[in-house]
Amino acid sequence: MIDNTVAFIGAGNMAQCIIGGMIKQGYPAENIIAANRNAEKLKALKSQYQIETTTDNIEAVTKADVIVLAVKPQMMAEVCQQLIEQAPECQEKLFISVAAGISVERFEQMLGQVRIIRAMPNTPALVGLGVTGLFPSRCSVYEQSFTEKLFVGTGKTVWLEKEQDINAIIAVTGSAPAYFFYFMQAMQQVAQELGFDENQAKAMVAQTALGAATMASQSDLSFEALRAQVTSKGGTTHEAIETFKQHKLETMVKDAMYAAIRRAEEMA
Ligand code: NAD
Repeated sequence: MIDNTVAFIGAGNMAQCIIGGMIKQGYPAENIIAANRNAEKLKALKSQYQIETTTDNIEAVTKADVIVLAVKPQMMAEVCQQLIEQAPECQEKLFISVAAGISVERFEQMLGQVRIIRAMPNTPALVGLGVTGLFPSRCSVYEQSFTEKLFVGTGKTVWLEKEQDINAIIAVTGSAPAYFFYFMQAMQQVAQELGFDENQAKAMVAQTALGAATMASQSDLSFEALRAQVTSKGGTTHEAIETFKQHKLETMVKDAMYAAIRRAEEMA
């Protein structure tokens, strides 16, 4: 599997996360090639990971067995048109797209009936703690297992049964780091109001979130049971939780997640 040369078209934040994860998992640097319009980004990637880099997308796809499309969604039509016009043999290769909102049907209009896996990572991939949803079209079991290995260095992977589940995973994991950041921001503001300085407040809130997330991921108990363990009736935590309930936190979370799904559907 590690004999496959993987070309990244677009070497921005998400490509860098995936490349970093691949290298960490022992994928050979000489089998990774990154193509990007902007040569500056490539310099940094090359010096950090010793991978091959180029500003020529066609050079990258020609050398590759697997093509990871990692440009912004609005650039995708231009990139696909270039590939199909200048390297039509790329249709025989495996494509992986990390772009939000571009369906398999749309890719087939642009590239023909290619073998493609849509991947939906999230930003904690940067620290190896991401979740990536994967949806395959026309791919073999080998290609699915290869793709899973590609993403394993960025965190967990989840196979999706229906393409529309990509929109659900955007709401559950893709957009979700920002929900937690927003909650932490609100807590930090109150901590500062209470007299802690900015750095102290940020560190305390982040450490508490990390501790809670670590406990939750290591425990067999449900989130509800974990919460109940630290919520004695009449105590301080109980008062705080009751206040969240009065303000209908669960309804807010539900509305926000469905709003993310609706937006993903509109963008598709
Ligand atoms: P980015 O802007 O950091 O990276 C995109 C890169 O593509 C840039 O470096 C740009 O110079 C390069 N580029 C633009 N046009 C090009 C072309 N024609 N040929 C070659 N390179 C070109 O963006 P990103 O955050 O890495 O996002 C990339 C993709 O990942 C997007 O489609 C996005 O939907 C998807 N994605 C991102 C996240 C995230 O949290 N960042 C999460 C899930 C999916």
